This record gives sequence, C-alpha cells and structure tokens, in this order.
Amino acid sequence: MPVTAKIPLAGIPPEELPELLGSLPPYRSVQIGKWLSRGVRSFSDMTDLPESLRAELEKRFILRSGSVSARLEDDDGTVKLQISLSDGLRIETVLLTDGEGRRTACLSTQAGCPAGCVFCKTGSLGFRRNLTAAEMVEQFLRLRDIEGDIANIVIMGMGEPLLNLAEVRRALGIFTNPRAFALSARRITLSTCGIIDGIRELTDAGPGIRLALSLTTGDEKLREELMPLGRSNPLALLREALRSHQRKWGQRITLEAVLLGGINTRDADAEAIAAFAEGLDVAVNLIPWNPVEGMTFRGMALREPTGRELRGINAGLERRGIKVTRRFRRGRGISGACGQLGLMEPGAGGSGMDHELSPLVR
Ligand code: SAH
Ligand code: SF4
Repeated sequence: MPVTAKIPLAGIPPEELPELLGSLPPYRSVQIGKWLSRGVRSFSDMTDLPESLRAELEKRFILRSGSVSARLEDDDGTVKLQISLSDGLRIETVLLTDGEGRRTACLSTQAGCPAGCVFCKTGSLGFRRNLTAAEMVEQFLRLRDIEGDIANIVIMGMGEPLLNLAEVRRALGIFTNPRAFALSARRITLSTCGIIDGIRELTDAGPGIRLALSLTTGDEKLREELMPLGRSNPLALLREALRSHQRKWGQRITLEAVLLGGINTRDADAEAIAAFAEGLDVAVNLIPWNPVEGMTFRGMALREPTGRELRGINAGLERRGIKVTRRFRRGRGISGACGQLGLMEPGAGGSGMDHELSPLVR
C-alpha cells in the first residue's frame, strides 16, 4: 500500500487547526474540529461546510489513515481490532467492557516493542516503528465506532509508551482537550515497563494521567533478567521517580505484576514488592501470565501460576498491608489479553489471526 502524503487530521490538536487550514476564517476550524471529535468518517459528512471546501479538504487531508483488517469478539464482550496502517504494518487495539457496561479502550503505541520482556508476545516480535499520534487517536475512533462512548483509556497495548513519548503526549493532548475528546486525565492510565526519563518528563510537563508500572518483581536481579530495560532503570531510581510524580499529581499508582508460575510467586516475592511499595500510595495488580506459546526463561517453558501460587502471593501482599486487585481475564479467547498482542505483518501466513482464533485455553 502506498504511503499517503495527505495529512491525517486525527493527529492534529484543535489549537493547531487554524494554522494548518491557512486562510480559512477561524470559525471554519472550529466547525472542522467539532466534526473530528465526533469521529466523522468522510469529508462529505461535514454538512455545514460548503461543498467546494469539502473537496479542497479532501485533496489535502485524510480522516483515517489505516483500515480495520480483522475484528474478533470474545464471549466476555472484549473486542479486538487489527488495524492495517498506511505502510502495511498491522497493530491491534482492544475494547474492554466491565460489569457495569463501562468501556475502556486499550491502545497501542508502537508496532512491536524494543523492550524485549521475556514473557510478552509483543516483546518477542521485536520493534518495527513508533506509532504517530494520529494512529493512536484513530484506534480510539475505530473502537468508538463499535459501541459509542468510551469512558477510559489505558495505554497498555503493543509497545512501550515512554519510548515514544512525544507522539504519546501529543495524543494525550488531543484526548484531554476540552475542544476535542474532553476526557479527564484521571480517566487515562499509562502503563510503562519503567523508563525513568519518561516518568520524569511526565511529572514535569504533565498531563497528570494515572501511571501504572510493570514492576513484575521487586527483586532487582530477577527483574533485569525478565525485563532487560531494568538494567538501565534501577528500582531505587524508579521508585524515586514515581514518588515525585505522586507528590506532584497525587494519583494512586498501580504496580502491575505478571505472575509467572514458579518464578515470582513466593512469599519472598511478596516481601520484595512490599519493600518497593514503601512510601508510595499504590495498589498492586496481580496479572496471571497469559500463555504465549514457546516462551521460555532460563531454558524452561513459562507457565501460568497455579491457583495456590496466586492465592499465596495475594495473601502475602495483603498481610503486609498492600491493596491488591486482580486483573480481569478479559479477552483471552481472542488473544486480546495483556501481553498477547502480536504484530502481524501482511502476508506472514500462519501468524496472527489464524493463531488468534484458537479456542480458549481454559
Ligand atoms: N509496555 C508497557 C505497556 C504494554 S504491556 C508495559 O510494559 O507496561 C501491558 C501489560 O501487560 C504490562 O503490565 C505487562 O507486564 C503485561 N504483560 C506482558 N506480557 C504478558 C502476558 N503474557 N500475560 C500477562 N500480562 C502480560
Ligand atoms: Fe514491551 Fe510492555 Fe511487552 Fe515489555 S511488557 S515487551 S515493555 S509491551
């Protein structure tokens, strides 16, 4: 597919529209901005613009640069869309619905991921490129097309958002702008594997979104093995960066711990997480590892935690006064759950959706 030279309007914040539109009177950019936040799909739908202007816009801009190349729906209502980007790369985006019917968009920020965490499917595929702000906003729009209003955004899809911070911040600016999607920053959570520089930048420059840290383990050596970027982002500095963020923005921080059977579920692991959490207002989110075929650690196949391991670490944390939440296991039937999102290249037969359609693991 040829890369289009037209500018995708989804990635343009309202304040930049007047300049981009050039000689048009200011009220025109207000009108166009409104259409964009409504998720209009074609210029001809911008009914309050003169036809000549619509034709002009169509020549210079595009509303959406990708296309939905597959859609999968799990029994629990989770929907996963595969989006083909303008250069043919494919990414995934997920819509989660909770018990009360509130919808959350889980967005991807990179095609693949350079971080290489050993338990993560996205990480195992390597890194292709950063997504643009327009491509992030487009995921939100495509998910909104399905059901309507979306209450929350979690930046927890493919990729490490803090390694693509400029574009992520640009997208955040559009999501939170009252003249665009007007989502409160408190309804947006960004999950990071722990890039200290990025956390500091968010602390200094905002927006004050919620942070989730993929801690996985409080044991520094083990963490470095499981999450290679841990080597350049040591736990003590990471904790300090989180503390500064919390002091400034006052949001409770989520510590995510993917539970790997036999690896990070002992009482000593609960102890190490509790030690990391000291001095921070946190809730620990326990995420039983979602199986990805062929993943190994120290030469052994990774496995899910047993019920006993799960209960053990849960109790160990609570005994130490830590608030614990369990991640709902949504989307597993369509590999739309945490860490199961895989990059799919066009024509890469056998990978991607064929595999994704395999029956529920349990
Ligand atoms: N790169 C960011 C956000 C995307 S990963 C980060 O790492 O935080 C989102 C979450 O999925 C992370 O908490 C990660 O630890 C978790 N995860 C990765 N692989 C997983 C798997 N196979 N099963 C369950 N969770 C997984
Ligand atoms: Fe990247 Fe997050 Fe997966 Fe690690 S867990 S490889 S940072 S997407």
